[in-house]
Amino acid sequence: MQDYILITGGAGYVGSHTAWLLAQKGYRVVVLDTLAQSPHFPHRWAEFVCGDYGDRHLLEQLFTNYTFTAVIHFGAYTVVSESVQHPLNYYDNNVSKTITLLDVMVKHNILSFIFSSSCAVYGLPHYTPLTEEHPCNPISPYGTTKYMIEQVLKDCANAYGLKYVALRYFNAAGAQAREGLGERHIPETHSIPLLLQAAQTGKPFYIFGTDYPTKDGTCVRDYIHVQDLATAHYKALLHLVLYKNPSDIFNLGTGSGLSVKELINAVQQITRKELTIIPASRRIGDPALLVADPVKAMIILQWKPMYSDITTIVTSTWVFEQSQGLIKKESISQEQE
Ligand code: UDP
Repeated sequence: MQDYILITGGAGYVGSHTAWLLAQKGYRVVVLDTLAQSPHFPHRWAEFVCGDYGDRHLLEQLFTNYTFTAVIHFGAYTVVSESVQHPLNYYDNNVSKTITLLDVMVKHNILSFIFSSSCAVYGLPHYTPLTEEHPCNPISPYGTTKYMIEQVLKDCANAYGLKYVALRYFNAAGAQAREGLGERHIPETHSIPLLLQAAQTGKPFYIFGTDYPTKDGTCVRDYIHVQDLATAHYKALLHLVLYKNPSDIFNLGTGSGLSVKELINAVQQITRKELTIIPASRRIGDPALLVADPVKAMIILQWKPMYSDITTIVTSTWVFEQSQGLIKKESISQEQE
């Protein structure tokens, strides 16, 4: 009989891809999600529990009814600008509730934890590519919540023997359309879905800043395919549970950066649409350059991005958007079908 894994936020973007992968690997997956950010969870490859990871009573029931080998914690609020406007919501949801989850885990002697962290913990880079040793000075409440939980995990490891892996994602992107999995945010703020919506509707895409000290004046990001992120969680699980390796923190990115203008070119090529592009002012809190040094994850987790070239990322997102009926089918070129 395979192990049960609890996945909070498993109906969300990275969570659902990871839940799917673990189910394919033979794990029995329990997804815990309020569905507040994802409309539904129609999949049969996981058990689904609708609820909040900060609900102590529900957690007590779950940890009594199932013997979990590990918890993978994706549940969080993730919009940086919203975190600036409503910091208390973010500290409550991302920090207080996670502490409740950890408390119930420890009481039930479930001591393996994989945490969705973020490159937002670093703040403004002093150098790139960013290694895990780069100082952490988050510049948004969102980034601070992720960094606070990393600190909590370190202390829980010392005090209770908790074993954890924190995975600092760079720019999650792409989709696994065949499985009905992809990115869905309301409102959408991310560049690739917005560019694809612009390609479909003819609405303009605004470039937030064209005067950055980068190769073409626009921000450079490290886009990592969500299927590669899912694989990293699987490897992190093996690292902790199978190989019994120590707790650790890893960057998840490709090591190479793409500017907003390069992204626009890729979208225009793949969709064969001419976009209306409008240069706009910088968005608050956007560093010029965010690129990972992923060597540590490659060596210790034996992880390697397989789907993170920009063509695969944009094409898979385009196919997903179409499968959701958001973008008309006929506008995709024959090659991408
Ligand atoms: N961006 C942009 N216009 C948009 C949305 C995003 O120019 O409508 C830029 C943004 O400033 C950043 C990059 O695209 O430099 C990636 O932004 P996204 O929101 O996708 O991810 P983030 O880097 O904020 O996590």
